[in-house]
Amino acid sequence: MSRRILIIYTGGTIGMIKDPESGILRPFDLDRILQQVPELSTFGYTLDAKTFEKPIDSSNMQPAIWLELASIIEKNYAAYNGFVILHGSDTMAYTASALSFLLQNLGKSVVLTGSQLPIGHVRTDAKENLITSIEIAAAAHADGSSRVPEVCLYFDYQLYRGNRVIKYNAEKFEAFHSPNHAPLAEAGIRIRYHDNYILPQPKGIFKVHHQLGTAVGSLKLFPGMSQAVFEAVLHAPDLSVLILEGYGAGNGPTAQWFLSALSTFIKTGKTVMAVTQCHGGSVELGKYETSAQLLQIGVISGHDLTFEASVTKAMFLLGQGFTGQRLENELQRPICGELSKI
Ligand code: ASP
Repeated sequence: MSRRILIIYTGGTIGMIKDPESGILRPFDLDRILQQVPELSTFGYTLDAKTFEKPIDSSNMQPAIWLELASIIEKNYAAYNGFVILHGSDTMAYTASALSFLLQNLGKSVVLTGSQLPIGHVRTDAKENLITSIEIAAAAHADGSSRVPEVCLYFDYQLYRGNRVIKYNAEKFEAFHSPNHAPLAEAGIRIRYHDNYILPQPKGIFKVHHQLGTAVGSLKLFPGMSQAVFEAVLHAPDLSVLILEGYGAGNGPTAQWFLSALSTFIKTGKTVMAVTQCHGGSVELGKYETSAQLLQIGVISGHDLTFEASVTKAMFLLGQGFTGQRLENELQRPICGELSKI
């Protein structure tokens, strides 16, 4: 029986067309996207498509839409062998991360892809990204089980774990990097799967979570940030988890006003998790004096989480009702390959 793949179109450059009057790129419908790729009919897969009523530029992505995507996959899980989500590249890494947490014990591929140039453009990267994503979503072992049972992201000949990617370039076809985790597959003449990096088939039953908390904030340190700006963020209402983007291995200033504001924040039962502003590598609180004090006042380590994964993991855990010490333990424990074992 042919493999069945569901394509879900959310929007993004891949399906955009230039408004002839204003010159602005706007989304158009999925049928017209698929018409641009007649090669799809030669695949031998059964392809069905679902399109958002109003396709969006992914800069308008919201947690409610992640929940909607998770529900679409839940409803169609039994009927399809794999899923391809067409998505704008700007926030694709956030969506991929969020879905990796929401889709627990995923046994099938959910491949997010998009493009840097619209599908109708002569030099588009959309066709290759779409065609290979479908092939990966359909790929199976001899027993019929999915070759890549995870939420992943395919772009420019590389398949990455979804919760490990960052959009690193606004212009190159190679728009994404996965600095702390090797690619799951690489496409050339054939697709080479790196089985040792791909998650195994889950042991538990597939379960979709339907809640995300949004009491999450972030702050990127920079030399010269004023006390007033820093404290304004800490005093924001409805803030339970602050992702602190520190320098290097998670370092920050040792100024008294900075440490005591953070310490007061933590003492009120809130969480501060340090991640690094660096492209790759890991936080190591306590390595330098400039992070030892953070550790002492109760800042926790985000280790090698991407910023995208740290925000969505916090939203996910808050949505599951975690608070206090249990929340902090869960944040630091790998759930679905987002964090290297420590
Ligand atoms: N602004 C677009 C989006 O994220 C960019 C893209 O698709 O690459 O929706």
